[in-house]
Amino acid sequence: MNNPLLKPYNTVPFSKIENAHFLPAISQLIEKTRDEIDAITSNTEKPTFKNTVEALENTGEQLDRATSIFFNLNSAETNDEIQKIAQEVSPMLTEFSNDMLLNEKLFERIKTVYKQRDSLNLTEEQHMLLDKKYKAFSRNGANLSEEKKTKLRKIDAELSKLKLTFGENVLAETNKFELHITDEKDLSGLPEGVIEATAQTADEKGKDGWVFTLDYPSYVPFMTYADNRELRKKMAIAFGAKGFHNDELDNQQNVLQIATLRHKRANLLGYESHAHFVLEERMAETPEKVKSFLNELLEKAKPAAQKEFDELTQFAKELDGIDRLEKWDGAYYSEKLKQKLFNLDDEKLKPYFELKNVINGVFTVAEKLYGLHFEEVHNIDKYHPDVKTYEVKDDEGELVAIFYADFHPRPGKRNGAWMTSYKPQRKIEVQIDPNQVGNSNGKIPASAGIKNDRPHISIVCNFTKPTASKPSLLTFNEVTTLFHEFGHALHGMLANTHYPSLSGTSVYWDFVELPSQILENWCYEKETLELFATHYKTGEVIPMEYVEKIKDSATFLEGMATLRQLSFGMLDMAWHGSDPSGIKDVKAFEVAAFDDTQLYPDVKENCMSTSFSHIFQGGYSAGYYSYKWAEVLDADAFALFKQEGIFNKKVADRFKGFVLSQGGTMDPMELYIKFRGQKPDPEALLKRAGLL
Ligand SMILES: [Zn+2]
Repeated sequence: MNNPLLKPYNTVPFSKIENAHFLPAISQLIEKTRDEIDAITSNTEKPTFKNTVEALENTGEQLDRATSIFFNLNSAETNDEIQKIAQEVSPMLTEFSNDMLLNEKLFERIKTVYKQRDSLNLTEEQHMLLDKKYKAFSRNGANLSEEKKTKLRKIDAELSKLKLTFGENVLAETNKFELHITDEKDLSGLPEGVIEATAQTADEKGKDGWVFTLDYPSYVPFMTYADNRELRKKMAIAFGAKGFHNDELDNQQNVLQIATLRHKRANLLGYESHAHFVLEERMAETPEKVKSFLNELLEKAKPAAQKEFDELTQFAKELDGIDRLEKWDGAYYSEKLKQKLFNLDDEKLKPYFELKNVINGVFTVAEKLYGLHFEEVHNIDKYHPDVKTYEVKDDEGELVAIFYADFHPRPGKRNGAWMTSYKPQRKIEVQIDPNQVGNSNGKIPASAGIKNDRPHISIVCNFTKPTASKPSLLTFNEVTTLFHEFGHALHGMLANTHYPSLSGTSVYWDFVELPSQILENWCYEKETLELFATHYKTGEVIPMEYVEKIKDSATFLEGMATLRQLSFGMLDMAWHGSDPSGIKDVKAFEVAAFDDTQLYPDVKENCMSTSFSHIFQGGYSAGYYSYKWAEVLDADAFALFKQEGIFNKKVADRFKGFVLSQGGTMDPMELYIKFRGQKPDPEALLKRAGLL
């Protein structure tokens, strides 16, 4: 069969791959992987780390590559055909992975090795791999009796249905509401672009005037700029009341049931609560630690937040005679105050951030810190002509990674920015063929029998496109986005582990944003900006006054923003940290959970939980805290760079040695302490945020 996905390849042969290749290749590779697993379970030898755990790690290599190509394309360069194939491929892969996790023979072998783990002389990385493989099964109920397994499957089925209904209700509620404006006066304060877009929305709906919806691109500008306070109130109440109307789209019972079933599921598996279950595989470890983490930040941030709130109230009073600041006033007066204090808009900054220069800037930062050299190459196949390809080499000229960068929006690319990979890093044992030694290039593999297979990493963004008269000029927000994604990419490119499932960004979830967020810090430093922030026409370096303003405006009303994030984290832990069976009234429960964190008066028509999709539909349950957690890590880690010099080689070597290259080979707290010499201290974040 002439299917390029079934043949060996190094970089992805994009130009040879047709959409029609995916389905047959993936289904054939699933079968191949099933055979590989059968070979493990039918092995007549006693289970060992090598013949079971490592063997399992080595299954499905080709399948993983084919699926990563497919799903990466579905995000970056999709079309109806690919989306249709995805509808078929996704359930196939789910079924395959379920079958594997329910494979009792396989689990028995892994369990046998797991029980002997302390007497096997395993390296720390091998311990992590064994633990990860074992827990994938045990956390899915592999150790339960048949009766309890049946119960667990029933709970899982109910949960997935409830989560789906929860999400459908939120979506239906979002789509149900519209604010139809026919009097131009009511548009006062709104930017021209927003007015145009909402006129178009109205047009599409066959209406006159302007239509605002609860979708973010419509809702957020309205709340930020619309002068009409009554209409802001109307929008805010509609936004906050999703799933809370005591009608067929109401989510109160769904929330209660989801929390209850999650708790039961955790108990069944032997955990005290859903949060205990989730946090077992997190750096934060336990609900108690998360709660004390949130409380410590709250104690420090609250006075600053209260002060900011009082100032904002005062400002609103002076400007418009507002007596009591309400939730629908927050964004509006914050924006007005920001304009007054900083008067710094994107248009002033953009000429200093030509994309070409920013890319060179981020490459220079990587060179100064980690000795990486990026060379654009044109002999690597790509999925779209806009994609750029680079060879990344170290100081000795050895290949570190292949790097793909895809910068501009186009139809078929989803919104946002992300990092992904086409091939993981791994170390492979190679059989040395005596006939090959001394072959044409005369090279004998350096480390006997181990090949370090380097990764292929990609970042995908949606930055402003160049035009005939202007190059691509980035907003400052886009600059930090590029540094952020490039930070993830460095985590992937510098990976240096044995096993692909512990390599690069395959780390605990509350640790994965450290490499990305830390790199953003360099964007605020004069030393970095001088490297690349030069005017695209005059070559003039960005004025210091702008740099100062960028820094100051970054912490504007940070206390209030912190309090808000903490309140969400606390609500999440309230729902998932203990037995929810006593909760009768969702709104009353929520008001109590918010007790310490609210600055604005409560709005009785509103309920956050009934549309809190992050934790009731998406994957953030018992995980919302991780936004702040990652900020604490990156601020504390960067503080060491600040102290020793932001391009200090020794600090950079430690960060590379203990964080960027290590993936998930060790407990992240251990890795962090090795790098930093101490546990993360929240003080650095509080200082950076101006809250101390
Ligand atoms: Zn990220």
